[in-house]
Formats: sequence, structure tokens, C-alpha cells
Amino acid sequence: MRVSKMLTHTLKEDPQEAEVMSHKLMIRAGMLRRVSSGIYNYLPLGWKVIRKVMDIIREEMNAIEGQELLMPAMNPRELWEETGRWEEMGDNLFRLKDRWGRDYCLGMTHEEVITDIARKEIQSYKDLPIMLYQIQTKFRDEPRPRAGVMRGREFIMKDAYSFHDSDESLDEKYRDNYRAYWRIFARCGMETVPVKADPGPIGGTDNHEFMVLSPVGEDTVFLCECGNGANKEMAYFKDEEKDPPVRSKESSREKIHTPGVSTIEKLCKSLKISADRFMKAIVYIADGKPIMAIVRGDRDINQVKLRRGLGVKTLAMANDDEILKFTGGHLGFSGPVGMDPSVVVADPEIKYMVDTICGANEKDYHFRNVNPGTDFTVGKYIQIRDAVEGDKCPECGKVLDAKRSIELGHIFKLGRKYSNDMKATFLDDKSERKTFIMGCYGIGVTRIVAAVIETHNDKNGIIWPISIAPYECLVMPVMYNDDEQRGISEEIYKKLKEKGIDVAYDDRDSRPGFKFKDADLIGYPLRVIVGKKAIKDGLVELKLRDEKEAQMVKIEEVVDMIIDIIKVEKTKLMSFSDRFEECPC
Ligand SMILES: [Zn+2]
Repeated sequence: MRVSKMLTHTLKEDPQEAEVMSHKLMIRAGMLRRVSSGIYNYLPLGWKVIRKVMDIIREEMNAIEGQELLMPAMNPRELWEETGRWEEMGDNLFRLKDRWGRDYCLGMTHEEVITDIARKEIQSYKDLPIMLYQIQTKFRDEPRPRAGVMRGREFIMKDAYSFHDSDESLDEKYRDNYRAYWRIFARCGMETVPVKADPGPIGGTDNHEFMVLSPVGEDTVFLCECGNGANKEMAYFKDEEKDPPVRSKESSREKIHTPGVSTIEKLCKSLKISADRFMKAIVYIADGKPIMAIVRGDRDINQVKLRRGLGVKTLAMANDDEILKFTGGHLGFSGPVGMDPSVVVADPEIKYMVDTICGANEKDYHFRNVNPGTDFTVGKYIQIRDAVEGDKCPECGKVLDAKRSIELGHIFKLGRKYSNDMKATFLDDKSERKTFIMGCYGIGVTRIVAAVIETHNDKNGIIWPISIAPYECLVMPVMYNDDEQRGISEEIYKKLKEKGIDVAYDDRDSRPGFKFKDADLIGYPLRVIVGKKAIKDGLVELKLRDEKEAQMVKIEEVVDMIIDIIKVEKTKLMSFSDRFEECPC
């Protein structure tokens, strides 16, 4: 491709709209333009990168017997009603009506549509297992689109779905996907960490998120040297085992007047005591029944752990009316004193608290000198607080490492959740009707691109892994209007093209400094500079984007050298086997 003919408009300055590096660089390098909040044009350079990522994904999905199809972005309400997700997805789902007043949504995921295909097209156990996938635009009505394509309202995803007649068959396909995911990300130049995650509204049992560590990530993962890793929601840790606490002096419970002091911050301020001396009591409605959950004042309740620990399906914070009915007090003044132990759940840390402070279940009042066992009884001690820096691995006891991360992929064992709801069945070997067992496997395609840039850049621009760079190589005469430089450049460009190298040729008659800056910003992995002095000695300059020094190469050897380098670089990306660990489940 001749750069003079490319649709490239690079920018010197960081755009105001962009906060994170990947967003800034995608705009500056002329890859991405905003159309509306969370909605973008992928300009040719950006689209080329996305296409290369898609190709890698297709190769790896096809290698594990995935079959590509394409489902509609617009889905009828009736299908989503069958699983209850028309309601459940709430405001995140884009909804629209046709001219007859019929309801549709723009798909953010396709379990309903694919399960509909399965129940119509797959008749027999002989057709199983089967895995179908698509690469498609998805929609999500984000309240706060941010970070460019990292969290947009319209984005490209690969989603795959598998159908099985046994759990063993699903386990096998899950492991295949786990391996394929690792390969996909490695080939895109990304080292990912698979962590255990909560299935959330998609449902199902085992599932893993593939995370790439990055300070701009929205998620936190907790990792251990032993290989154990989980996202924040699922980060369990070893509960501290201590001796029972000794109360310093004979103290008895005392009611204190705390007008308007309804938060931990206000309590700390008005009583001049740190938050870890209080108990935080929050009332939840769990499967329709109220319960009180208690953690130390400086901790956060982890709703996923609470929901799992209680073994309930739905969990939501109670409103003021519900709290009043349940405790007799108002929001911000709840506490376990006087509550029936069967409705009180506490984090094990509470066991060791001495002369603590909690709400008195009465507006504007707290208790001080409250002690577990003496003043209240806990029905169930379960770990319900978020992990924090310093917590220890439940497997090996070493300290967990908390890291910011970006989620690139998520794989789920769905089981029969969707096939049950949608009555999707097949005939087994005894001609009996059985419900499909399903798996689902997603990858954020556009998010990969952002994450790669986020982890591969310097002050001058993007440093692409060769596998997904918009062009593998750039040929550039220092002075385009010099006949000799131009002639040699054209020749090298032509030869590289003939050899199947994805090559760009900077044939613009611009200042060399300007062209060098563009080349760094766009991040061509390889650059051939044809300059006046060197060609006198029959040499050109060959430079790798991620190396400081260029090497001088004989003109007639440069093409073969480039071919070799590309081969070596791609092999490097593929050879991740020493780091790879098989799926643990
Ligand atoms: Zn460990």
C-alpha cells in the first residue's frame, strides 16, 4: 500500500476526549474516530488490525472444530422472554420497536438465538458435540462508555456456543477452549492470566476470565505464586485463625445518641475512632427473605460471596421500608443486637472484635461495647468480605497479589440453564428426549486491540506485535524526490509485495522527520530506510520498532532478512507452551 493513497490522518496532540493510552494512540494514529458516545468508526488502519485479530481467532476456533455462522444483531423480544432475560438485562439492553409496534433488542449476547437454532436443527445425539461461533457487532447500553473501544456501547465480539449430551463432553470442549484462548491471546502478543469468576447473569457453573494485567484495567484480580487466581468477586482467601479475644476491662453495652450519623465515615468523625472498630450491618433481601450481613466497618461486603454462601439465587440490598419492618430501625442504624440469630450472617473477622460499635436498630442511636456471643449471636459465619492486599491464598497460604486487569475473554459451563428454559432437546441413543448441556465462550475482539496497545507502546507511539500490526513492514526513502532513493525503495517494495509481505511504502514527498514520526506512531514493526549516504555503499537501514539501533543491510539481502525476521517473530508469539498450564477443571 502506498502511504500517499492511505486514509491516514495522524495527530500530533493527544485528543481531549481520550483518557487512556490506547484510546489516545488509536485516535492519533488515525485508526479510530468517535461518532457518538461509545460508538466509533474503525478507519482502514484500525480495521486492518481488527481483521488480523479476527483471522487468528478464526484459525484457533476452527482448529477445535468450531463452525462459523452469523446470527442477527436484532433479536425478537419473544426469544428473550423465554429465558426471562428481556426483563433481567434491565437498562443494559438496547430495545426498539418496529412499525407494527413489535419489540426487538440489539443483542449483547446470543444464548437465546443459538439455543433456538439448536432445538430446531439438532435432532440426535449423533450430531453432538457441536460448537458454533460468530464474530459480530454487539450492543450494550453502557451508562458511562469510557476508554475508547475498551468499554463502548457497540463493540465486536467472538461468541461461541457448544452443545453436548454429557458433562464429560462439555468438560472436554471447555478444556479445548481454555487452550485455544491461551493461544489466541499469545498470538496477539498478550500474556493472559485465567482467573476463576462468578457466572453472573449468564448463569452456569465453572467459568474463567482471561485477564491481561494493566494499570488502566477496570477489574482487580488476586493472584498467587501457586497459580491460584480469581477476580475480585470470587477472590476467596484464608480466614485468620486466632485465639479468642480477651476483653480488656469489664464493659457493658451502652446506648449512645448519634443524631444523623448514618454512615461509617460520619461515625468515625463524630466518635473519633477508626472504621475497623465498628461493625457494618447491611440488610439484604435474599430470595425474598430479609437477612442481616455483618463485616468490620473498614471492609466491603462482597455480594457474590454472600449470595453463594447463603445458597440463594437473588440478592439485593433492602430499602428503608424493608429495613424498618425487619429491624424496627432505619437505614444506617442497623445492628445485630436483638436480632434472631437465624437471620444474622457475619464474616469470621467479627468473631474477634472486642467492645465494638454498631447500630441500635433505632433511628439516631448506636450501641457501644458490643461483643459477639455476649450481646448478639451470629447464625452463620461465612466469608463475605472483599479480599484486600495482604490476604492469604486459600490453597497455599502465601500472600495474594492484587493487580489491575482488563478482561479479554470469558468461558462458561452453562449446563442446562438455557436449554431447560427454552425446552431445547435431542434424542439420545435410547430414543429418549434429553436436554442439551451447553458451554459458551466469548472474546472481546475490539478490546484485544485496545489491550495490546495499552501494554505495547512508548512515548513515540504503538509497538505492534508483528502478528496484528496494520502492516508488517514500511519502506521509506528519506527523500522521495531523489530518483535513486525512490528507485531502490520502489524495487524493495515490489519484491516484498511479491513475497506476500504486508508492506506499506511511504511515497510522500514530505519532510523526513514528519515521516519518521508517523512511522513510530503507527508502529510498523519493521522499517527499511533508503538514504543517500548508505546506498552509495549498497546498503539500506533496517530497524525494528522495539529496538533502538538500526542495522545496515545489503540492498540485495534486505528482502530475505525481512522474511526471516517476520517468521522468527511469529514463531516467538506461538511458542508459549512453557508458560501454558492446562485448565484446572
Ligand atoms: Zn497459593
